[in-house]
Amino acid sequence: MTYSVKEIYYTLQGEGAQTGRPAVFLRFAGCNLWTGREKDRARAVCNFCDTEFVGTDGPGGGKFKTAEALADAVDGHWPDTASADNPYVVCTGGEPLLQLDDDVIDALHTRGFEVAIETNGTLASPAGVDWICVSPKAGATVVQASGQELKLVYPQKEREAQPDRFEHLDFDHFFLQPLDDDRLDRNTRATIEYCLEHLRWKLSLQTHKIIGIA
Ligand code: SF4
Repeated sequence: MTYSVKEIYYTLQGEGAQTGRPAVFLRFAGCNLWTGREKDRARAVCNFCDTEFVGTDGPGGGKFKTAEALADAVDGHWPDTASADNPYVVCTGGEPLLQLDDDVIDALHTRGFEVAIETNGTLASPAGVDWICVSPKAGATVVQASGQELKLVYPQKEREAQPDRFEHLDFDHFFLQPLDDDRLDRNTRATIEYCLEHLRWKLSLQTHKIIGIA
């Protein structure tokens, strides 16, 4: 299998329970809920995406013909100056589960990586993933109903995307993250209020945007 990757880079995880943790981000190209083209956004299942995931032209991106080659590329982004203990890779997208398979996970594990994914939850995860973060979208059925964290963008107006629809799922952490649109301040206040009133939920901020890193 050839893996199409938009970009690979080393940074800090900005969101959720692993906020602040150094990680290599492996951004796969493509998503099953939007083409990534602006002309299709209005009729996409997911229409508030803030990520460039089309093509393979980003830093470190490209087409990788084998799982080993892709894992080598990820490993090459973990800095020599960083501790060799517990290197961490976040597989994201787009939708990483369109491409992430057992071969890639095994190759990353062989190189010592703890493997995380950030998925929209519409596809089942391979068993070997160490940290599963599901971010459900209105209009898209959640198939991956268990993992370490569920991170819901808030508010979404659709009834099926309200927080109480997900509380029965099998996750360790439940995060609400303010929708980053032209009403971010208002969305942040609404998210804070919801968390204060519903103790299952914790606030997740996109700290990478606040501190100005990728
Ligand atoms: S599911 Fe995720 S990657 Fe796909 S369009 Fe929505 S926010 Fe973007």
